[in-house]
Amino acid sequence: MIIVTRPGITEAELDHIRERVEALGMRTHVSRGEQRTIVGCIGDEERLQEVALLRMPGVERVMPVTKPYKLVSREFSVERSVVRAGDGPSALFGGRELAVIAGPCSVEGAEMLRETAWAVRRAGAGLLRGGAFKPRTSPYAFQGLGLEALRLLAEVRAETGLPVVTEVMDTRQVELVAEYADVLQVGARNMQNFPLLSEVGRVQRPVLLKRGLSATIKELLMAAEYIMVQGNRDVILCERGIRTYETATRNTLDVAAIPVLKAETHLPVIVDPSHAGGRSELVAPLAFAAVAAGADGLIVEVHPDPERALSDGDQSLSPDGFAELMRRLAPFAEAAGRTLRAPALEAA
Ligand code: PEP
Ligand code: MN
Repeated sequence: MIIVTRPGITEAELDHIRERVEALGMRTHVSRGEQRTIVGCIGDEERLQEVALLRMPGVERVMPVTKPYKLVSREFSVERSVVRAGDGPSALFGGRELAVIAGPCSVEGAEMLRETAWAVRRAGAGLLRGGAFKPRTSPYAFQGLGLEALRLLAEVRAETGLPVVTEVMDTRQVELVAEYADVLQVGARNMQNFPLLSEVGRVQRPVLLKRGLSATIKELLMAAEYIMVQGNRDVILCERGIRTYETATRNTLDVAAIPVLKAETHLPVIVDPSHAGGRSELVAPLAFAAVAAGADGLIVEVHPDPERALSDGDQSLSPDGFAELMRRLAPFAEAAGRTLRAPALEAA
């Protein structure tokens, strides 16, 4: 249930409403806009009948939320959420500027990470990605460098100023990964790992939640609700392609999911054109489509030598390829009313 308050409601009136609702064993969630403040109520809604909400000072209207997701729903928030990752100027998700995360699928060593980070930074990326713990289909494939990779990511962040995004696969790693990373990625294969979602909901780090391989939009939003209900409001959703009957591409980018999500939720939505297409030549067209459809950002795989990459080389761009993507992306960003971070001026 949502309580819409009158413009100019006082703090005391707001506190009174919250106290009465919480006394019923329900939780409240306040969203403040410039004009209005709303109070979302979660729990046994029947019990709200026990209090005369409409007679409380400051209350204008009471509306039911028909969707199964509450905190995530647009109705629960007056404004769109802007999620800040780290303290860099270009690490805002959901603002006018597109958030661009770029870097290798996996951190393979210090040199390749450093080289990639500087290259993507020069090209205008605002954040660095790099897998430390990798969810590989085969147990015999490279599994990531683990803690060593986390240390390298933190080192390269200190050098370049780029906040880092890395995946956490297991509840037992959440604290450790949160110590090093600015954004915790929950990968497609873990989108419905409910204990993991709850655990990342309890830490103070933004979460990049990727859509499951065969997950519906509703399931993605319910997964985000799992995180938010634990108190973490900083969730970024990521469309990364879904499994369909089509085999010409690794996955099928669900472009329609972008406007659908933006209508359903106040959370920022980004797109991963690398895992969607699975081939480097598809990254640019899918990135353009994503931005044109209203995505708030992109996450792109970049490797200094894609041919030799230990994971996802086929879909990785070279540093030059990424710089070209950023140049070609600019008119699409502009047409969508977004800005793109200008490439750094320092020498290549
Ligand atoms: C990744 O980002 O490297 C990754 C494994 O992504 P996804 O979970 O979307 O497959
Ligand atoms: Mn990958």
